[in-house]
Amino acid sequence: MAAELFDALVVEEEAPGTFTRQIKKRSIDELPPGELLVRVRSSSLNYKDALSALGRPGVTKNYPHTPGIDAAGEVVSCADGAFREGEKVIVTGYDLGMNTPGGYGQYIRVPSAWGVRLPEALSLKESMALGTAGLTAGLSLQKLVQAGVRPEHGEILVTGATGGVGSVAVAILSQAGYQVVAVTGKIEETEYLTGLGARQVLSREAFLQNSDRPLLKERWAGVIDVVGGPMLAAAIKSASYGGVVTCCGLAGSAELPLNVFPFILRGVSLLGVDSAQCPSAARNEVWQLLASDWKPQRILAQAQEVPLAELEERFHAMLKGESRGRTVVNLD
Ligand code: NDP
Repeated sequence: MAAELFDALVVEEEAPGTFTRQIKKRSIDELPPGELLVRVRSSSLNYKDALSALGRPGVTKNYPHTPGIDAAGEVVSCADGAFREGEKVIVTGYDLGMNTPGGYGQYIRVPSAWGVRLPEALSLKESMALGTAGLTAGLSLQKLVQAGVRPEHGEILVTGATGGVGSVAVAILSQAGYQVVAVTGKIEETEYLTGLGARQVLSREAFLQNSDRPLLKERWAGVIDVVGGPMLAAAIKSASYGGVVTCCGLAGSAELPLNVFPFILRGVSLLGVDSAQCPSAARNEVWQLLASDWKPQRILAQAQEVPLAELEERFHAMLKGESRGRTVVNLD
């Protein structure tokens, strides 16, 4: 075991600011310390993975590095007994794939506290068809539910709807009985979004038209936003009285051009969502819901599976906002 070699996607900084990606042999001995050694069977593609793989600032500080913020596989060993050998586990978030070698390698070694037992009703591949994007969409819906937003209260808006978080959000909201309105930059994907359960699809341009006023016509009982910037601002300004807006991403912008009127005149709430450090109780609850009441069959059926060698184009497409749905990475 000690000298066992495995395949991993390794990103190297060849010259300052120039990054290359290659599949290389790595040794288990090179992995960092941690109680939990996992033979990874599947990973997935998330926005942060594209940033890390392409050497963009803000995710990975030191290269060479193996990205992959998601991993699912079998426990090889667990030094503190938290998991049994052979048990199936999901590891997402924390530092995985950021500065800890991640799921784009066939083995990971991490603290056992990062592991989540795979729910019985999910396969390893299905768990990665959801991955961090699915967990984040689930945590966002969990926040809406905890804040008291019910299907009968009205429409829920999802931004960045064709992306990973957005598409899972559309699907699980619809599965949970909510009326979903999806806003997208890819209006040609209307059929895809209605297939996931959206009642109506709006183009980004139409949604943003005349949205620079301080308040807009009230419409949304809830919002799941992944985009930030003017889209999030417009969503908050058009939330109904008492509406609840979740914010998890910055696919459009990290800025929020807004004043306080929606909060002080309409009692709108803005709730942040983080999947990386979120407490294990919330994490486990969302994974159980994703495996049962919220299980988004279409997302699972439509996820595309690729080997490590086919990620290159997808990293670039993702940062250009061109991805659709979810990509699973096969590490068998
Ligand atoms: P994707 O690239 O799969 O989806 C992002 C979507 O946002 C795109 O498909 C596009 O959808 C839309 N979009 C992209 N660029 C713009 C733009 N300039 N203006 C408006 N909309 C745009 O990424 P993910 O779904 O994986 O992640 C989305 C965001 O959420 C990222 O910022 C990511 O970092 C963040 N995130 C945060 C997490 C957390 O724990 N807080 C966890 C996971 C992700 P469309 O064309 O349909 O509009």
